[in-house]
Parts: sequence; structure tokens; C-alpha cells
Amino acid sequence: MKRILITGAAGFLGSHLCDRFIKEDYHVIAMDNLITGDLRNLEHLFKLENFEFYHHDVTNFVHIPGKLDYILHFASPASPIDYLKIPIQTLKVGALGTHNLLGLAKEKKARILIASTSEIYGDPLVHPQTEAYYGNVNTIGPRGVYDEAKRFMESITMAYHRFHGVETRIVRIFNTYGPRMRLNDGRVIPAFIGQALRGEDLTVFGDGSQTRSFCYVDDEIEGIYRLLLSDYSLPVNIGNPHEITIKDFAEEIVKLTGTDQKIIYKPLPKDDPMQRQPDISKAKALLGWEPKVSRADGMKMTYDYFKSLPDEELYKKDH
Ligand code: NAD
Ligand code: UDP
Repeated sequence: MKRILITGAAGFLGSHLCDRFIKEDYHVIAMDNLITGDLRNLEHLFKLENFEFYHHDVTNFVHIPGKLDYILHFASPASPIDYLKIPIQTLKVGALGTHNLLGLAKEKKARILIASTSEIYGDPLVHPQTEAYYGNVNTIGPRGVYDEAKRFMESITMAYHRFHGVETRIVRIFNTYGPRMRLNDGRVIPAFIGQALRGEDLTVFGDGSQTRSFCYVDDEIEGIYRLLLSDYSLPVNIGNPHEITIKDFAEEIVKLTGTDQKIIYKPLPKDDPMQRQPDISKAKALLGWEPKVSRADGMKMTYDYFKSLPDEELYKKDH
């Protein structure tokens, strides 16, 4: 049985990755310090023999007994309000955490895939974003702690690949959504759906003309799975190219939820990217991958998930 370590396993993407690799009959070693994650995302796996969980902060030395075939490094705060609240931990998990996991990959001769992000393109001047674009990041702005941690992560990963011959993969993930996002994590989909469910106005930041391109979680996981098993070590964008302005998206959510909430406007956070859309030609050609789930279907499944949560989740302020 192949053994895989998944960091950030109690989070949104990490828990879906655990499900996927359990389904593929791997032995899954899940690791998380629960700083933004939730063990409830994994509780259905605890009874399985091929699943184990380590409560551990990956910025400290990581030790795993026995053989290891693969590592997926997904530990990191991922929503702007999370990484603005814990900026130093965000830098540390991208830098020290990644260093520890690359060291482990080298020691175990394991293949490692790291979770990079469309944020490495910053507020992009090239549209849509291809992997060849170097990005436009404000290193000293509030989002710099996340963006630069992820840029460093890519650099140290390529250094371990070139200098130590470690088998590495880099996925640049674009805005992904679906069940198990935290209702209060501040990202736009849980924010808007939470507001609609509580009967509050939907808060669009800026004039809402900024764009994003949202990928349903099942599509994202499939792309990551294929990339891990490919033989390609340079970064690959995985995301859904279907782009929408945030204002139009807010209107879509009002329709989806069947509420008649008002849309109100709040100041745009500093360095909020004005446009974002992945160019996925590389993923198509290399992995034969493209997203399959429409925004209408994905949003319906996501809304049904949030609606099914107990009422107290709707009003929870902190993680
Ligand atoms: P999430 O907050 O739901 O999950 C992150 C998990 O990492 C949490 O369970 C958290 O407790 C854990 N973690 C954080 N620091 C840790 C540490 N030092 N040691 C151990 N565990 C730690 O976020 P997510 O949306 O699932 O994102 C997962 C990964 O994917 C992140 O690396 C993120 O940067 C990347 N990513 C996500 C998106 C997206 O749209 N969801 C987009 C781009 C990149
Ligand atoms: N956004 C918004 N209202 C909210 C939360 C977010 O208008 O309540 C906007 C935010 O300014 C950004 C977009 O939605 O332009 C996506 O934000 P999110 O935090 O989900 O992701 P990111 O900015 O990291 O792409």
C-alpha cells in the first residue's frame, strides 16, 4: 500500500485530498495543528485502519516513522482574514514548514507536491495568467506575508529539485470552493452565503468590478491528483477559467439563495487583485485535465452544504 503524508489535512482542501487518497487505497497520514482547520472535516476517517492523524505544527521538525511515498504540503492559512490575523505563522509555514517537508521528502525519497497559489501573480498585469508570468506582488503590503511565503515556497522547492534531485510538483491553485469551507473564514463564497442565510446585506468590497474565477473542489482535487502522478516538475495552474465580477457574483448568490438581500459596498482591501483568471492550457495538454462542474451546479452543492450546518455555526465569530 502506498503511504502519503497530507499536511493541512483538517482544512478544506486537505480533508478532500484525504478522502480522495483513501478512495484510491492509500495509507493516509494526516497532519494539522488545527490553527484554521477543524477535526470534524476528518472525523468520518478516524475509524479506518489506513488513516492516522498527527496533531503537529509543521514549522517544527517533522518525523514520520516508516516508508513514505508521497507528501502533499497543504498546511497554510489560506483566506485573507486568516493570514492577516496570523501573519508570522503564515510566513513560517510557507518557509520553515516547506523546508522541513522538503527535508523529509529527501530523507524518505518521497515525491512532494506543494500547494502554491494564484496569489503569486499578485495584482496581475497579464491576463489571463499563464505560468510564464512572473507576477506583480507588493512585498511589504498586508497580503505580502502570504504571497511571498508562497513565492519562497516555489523557489526552495525548485532548489531541492535541482540541487538534491528531490521529485517535486508545484500546483498553482486558483480560487476553489465547496463543502467544508469555514463559514466565517471571510472568503467571498462563505461570506456571501453566510450573509444571505443570516438575512444580512451582502458586502461587496470596492465597486465589485474586480474579477475572480471559481473552481469547484472536486475538479481541483482531480487536477492535483493528476499532477502528483505526472512527471512534470514545473508549476501548473489548476483552476476554472470561467471569470465573473464580484458584483455579478453577488447577484447570482441572491438569486441562488432565493432571498432578497440588498448588496452594499465596503472599501476594497489593500492590494486586492483586480482580475484573476487562469490560463489552463498547460494542465489540459500535460494532464488531460479541465474543470467539469459548472458554477451553477457547484454553487448549488455548496449552498446545500452551508444550509445543512447547525444554526450556531452561522453566528460563530472566531475559529
Ligand atoms: P484551510 O485554512 O481550510 O486549510 C489549511 C490547513 O492548514 C488548516 O487545517 C490549518 O489548521 C493547517 N495549518 C496551518 N498552519 C499549519 C502548521 N503550521 N502546521 C500544521 N498545520 C497547519 O485552507 P484551504 O483552502 O484548504 O487551503 C489549503 C492550501 O491550499 C493552503 O496551502 C493554501 O494556501 C492553498 N490554496 C488554497 C486555495 C483555495 O482557494 N482554497 C487557493 C490557493 C491556494
Ligand atoms: N470580497 C467581497 N466581499 C466579501 C469578501 C470578499 O467583495 O465579503 C471580494 C474580495 O475583495 C475579493 C474577492 O471577493 O475581490 C475574492 O475574495 P476572497 O477573499 O474569496 O479571495 P481572494 O481575494 O484571495 O481571491
